[in-house]
Amino acid sequence: MARRALVIVILTRRQCVLGLLLVLTIIVLATGSFAFLPVMGTNPLAGKVIAVDPGHGGIDGGSSHGNLREKSITLYLSQVLARELQSQGATVVLTRESDTDLFDGISVEREIAISKEEYLQDRQAGRKTHPLDRAVAQGTRIPPPYRLGLRTRLIIASQHQADVFLSIHTNKYRSSSARGSATLYQTHSPASKRLALAIQAHLGTLLPGRAQPDVIPDDFFLLRRSPIPTVIIEVGFISNARDREFMLSPKGAEAIAKAITKGLKDYFGNGLRQKLSLLLSSLPNPVLGTNGPQGLHADNRSQLFDLFHALHHDV
Ligand SMILES: [Zn+2]
Repeated sequence: MARRALVIVILTRRQCVLGLLLVLTIIVLATGSFAFLPVMGTNPLAGKVIAVDPGHGGIDGGSSHGNLREKSITLYLSQVLARELQSQGATVVLTRESDTDLFDGISVEREIAISKEEYLQDRQAGRKTHPLDRAVAQGTRIPPPYRLGLRTRLIIASQHQADVFLSIHTNKYRSSSARGSATLYQTHSPASKRLALAIQAHLGTLLPGRAQPDVIPDDFFLLRRSPIPTVIIEVGFISNARDREFMLSPKGAEAIAKAITKGLKDYFGNGLRQKLSLLLSSLPNPVLGTNGPQGLHADNRSQLFDLFHALHHDV
């Protein structure tokens, strides 16, 4: 019996190998290249350094609901995400691992010096300058403490030579019915937009909401000053019971971590799913036309994100 079983296994494996070879031959003949092989054979997260930034911390609690602070949710979600990414072969740098605001990571003098440099670079490149960057560079405004905290987060990512930067946040709205995830990207960086699309392709399915599109360009300090592809992930609304419970439950946090990790794998692996989502996002809506869902939701969206701005003191 044992011998016969062994023969069956060998034959089956042989058939499998032959079948696989046949399929590969057809793909090579059809595409005329072996370009797909690295995608099939390697882990896209291997050797990648991911900076995961739990938004807020310390005296900066972020938004809140009752006694619950955004800073606690972001730390919890970031730690679960870090473990998931590590289990998938990535190296993770957490910008904070405790309830700290990181305000003392850089001196006021150093921040002013960096701001001056950046301001000069903006001017030379003919880029639009941000009023607060200009004020700090020209010495008419002292950089507020939370700006030092944000700069520290960028410095930590840079010290570890991170490939991408993910800042984890939650959203808030006066109506408790607003819910769902959204990801903000750097207006100047196509890579950042690709990253946001790749993440939302998974996270948006898990935490759907009213914000459409759920991938939005913005110029928050972290986005405009980070030299690597950077996104701000608003995982869900702290003001919505369903989002809140999902984000705080171990099962929900795990699912969120897996969704973001899948997005990163697509981004680094140039996955088929990402190519499809890019293609779909570039197509006009054939049913509703140009005044379709995007026009319809624009007001809702700007209301939602006006509030997000107000809560996230951008300097
Ligand atoms: Zn926040």
